[in-house]
Amino acid sequence: MTPRTVLVTGGNRGIGRAIAQSFLDAGHRVAITSRDGSGPEGALAVAADVTDAASIDAAFTQIEAELGPIEVVVANAGITRDTLLMRMSEQDFTDVVDTNLGGAFRVVQRASKGMLRKKWGRIVLISSVVGLYGGPGQVNYAASKAGLVGIARSITRELGSRGITANVVAPGFIETDMTAALDDATQAEYKQAIPAGRYGSPEEIAGVVRWIASDEAAYISGAVIPVDGGLGMGH
Ligand code: NDP
Repeated sequence: MTPRTVLVTGGNRGIGRAIAQSFLDAGHRVAITSRDGSGPEGALAVAADVTDAASIDAAFTQIEAELGPIEVVVANAGITRDTLLMRMSEQDFTDVVDTNLGGAFRVVQRASKGMLRKKWGRIVLISSVVGLYGGPGQVNYAASKAGLVGIARSITRELGSRGITANVVAPGFIETDMTAALDDATQAEYKQAIPAGRYGSPEEIAGVVRWIASDEAAYISGAVIPVDGGLGMGH
């Protein structure tokens, strides 16, 4: 295993925190961003808002100064603003797209500079089963998550010959603050639809992310990897 410098956005809680912890446990140098600047022990935690390019740039500058060029970037920060199409305001739509899709764009664009110089890089975009499966009340969220596939595949075509891979990990329903916000009836309904019969854990996403960022996965790019207990099978 080659120790790498890794950045996970939204690494203070939920899936992002588990991803950061998994890289830390494997001996990598890990930085995380969160809006309040908190993070897991052992990681360099930097405050940044993914909707603000200047704050992303400042975070990268600090991380590069302290840990060296970022070799693995995991664009994980994301939000939901669920409501049915007829009730969805333009603000609900643009806020979610600007955070989930625009945020990933800002982060990977900034990361690609150092990766190009190094001729090595791993870009991992955290999408969702909902991106390709759809979800009632999630027009904004599904659009933002489907867009990540286009980003990964276009980067693969642009930068694939420079030792850089870009892949999408598409979690199903995972036990975090985001799913805890769903009401009991909705949670039960979702669980019934999952062949595995349960929600996943953040650690089950983290293991896949760590592997897709490893040397072993050098020949995989532009892929969408479902980690969803079989929910999205065939989509
Ligand atoms: P959480 O709500 O637990 O955490 C979201 C993370 O994103 C937090 O660290 C949060 O930071 C960060 N974040 C949100 N907005 C911004 C912003 N503008 N700038 C910087 N950071 C921001 O979510 P999960 O851990 O559940 O989800 C992580 C990712 O996985 C998301 O992209 C989500 O869409 C995706 N996902 C989750 C699934 C699930 O079932 N949980 C299923 C499929 C995909 P802060 O503390 O500052 O708010």
